[in-house]
Amino acid sequence: MKILSVNAGSSSLKFTLFEMPEEKVIVSGTFEKIGLNSSIYTIKYNGEKIKKECVLNTHKDAVNVLMEELLNLNIIKSYDEIEGVGHRVVQGADKYSKSVIIDEEVCKDIVKFTPLAPIHNPANLIGIESFKEVLKNVKQVGVFDTAFHQTMKESEYLYPLPLEWKEKYGVRKYGFHGTSHRFISETMKEYLKKDAKIISCHIGNGASLSAIKDGACVDTSMGFTPLAGLMMGTRSGDIDASIVPYLCDKLNLSASEIINKFNKESGLLAITGVSSDLRDVESEYLNGNERCKLGLEMYSRKIVNYISMYNTLLDGAEYIVFTAGVGENSPIVRGLVCEKLKALGVEIDKNLNEEMFGKFGEISSNNSKIKVFVVPTNEELMIARDTYDLIKE
Ligand code: ADP
Repeated sequence: MKILSVNAGSSSLKFTLFEMPEEKVIVSGTFEKIGLNSSIYTIKYNGEKIKKECVLNTHKDAVNVLMEELLNLNIIKSYDEIEGVGHRVVQGADKYSKSVIIDEEVCKDIVKFTPLAPIHNPANLIGIESFKEVLKNVKQVGVFDTAFHQTMKESEYLYPLPLEWKEKYGVRKYGFHGTSHRFISETMKEYLKKDAKIISCHIGNGASLSAIKDGACVDTSMGFTPLAGLMMGTRSGDIDASIVPYLCDKLNLSASEIINKFNKESGLLAITGVSSDLRDVESEYLNGNERCKLGLEMYSRKIVNYISMYNTLLDGAEYIVFTAGVGENSPIVRGLVCEKLKALGVEIDKNLNEEMFGKFGEISSNNSKIKVFVVPTNEELMIARDTYDLIKE
């Protein structure tokens, strides 16, 4: 069965076509700059990369081009060979704790939750509507970034704010990257043949940690929005909320302008003055750049703080798992984090850490009290699995 896994952004559309249940990737690609003057798309197929420029005014145009390319490449003979389309949806609020088949009600809810994810939810919905227009009778599934975190207890998801704000306005912790954290939880369960107490560290441009027990999320570091928690590429992570009105006054900017700066001009970028991309920061760090040293010290310290908190919350974690762009590929960050966890008995094997890039494996030494693993995440596959499971009946 051919299943498309889709992640629609405001001007982009990423896709992977899977053969399910074999979980084989047939083709994948990205459409970029949709709605801008010159769009680009890249398709990876049979070990080759096809890159083309064209004009795509809408996401529907991108879906049409995608389907035409699938026909041209002889991947499908007709549109109805695509039996399901799974969509990443960022915000499902407290209504969706699992993936669902998309119907009118789900679409209305995605609109309803837009104030909680003003950039992502509308883009995700445009993706859904575009596929609905082109593939009229195909079942579509919504896979929510927030769903995995719905198992958090009130004591974890509530902010110590007037309760009425939670009831009336939905002010609570939702958490994000849930599809990735669930993938880590399921992959470790499959490997260990049992559930374990895991701290999943999704460290990419955006970054979040989750404490996982019995396959369920106990707590996570992102909050009401993905701005909370760790220091990230361009995001500040947790800060004192009083800084907002203070800066509004000093800089003569609105609260949303200040928050925009916390989202886009802070984090590693602000501290290092070099880049939000860890590869650039690391190369300057290795050249002895003092601000990059400071940036990475702060960046790793925040991760350590959350790991320490989650270790107590889990009453002793058994596994720490690094994933996403940085987690999978940066021995430097993994090393800086783990050397600060000596008090928890964490010890990594330097050689294993240095050699581990983008593949599954253990990097801790035999003596380590908490085992440390690198596990490549695969949100696209998780979306395809959920879609297959929901539509196969
Ligand atoms: P997102 O999905 O949040 O955009 P990713 O998970 O793709 O982010 O992670 C992107 C980050 O991973 C970037 O900061 C990038 O520098 C970092 N990264 C990717 N490859 C490497 C590498 N080989 N070494 C160090 N950092 C890397």
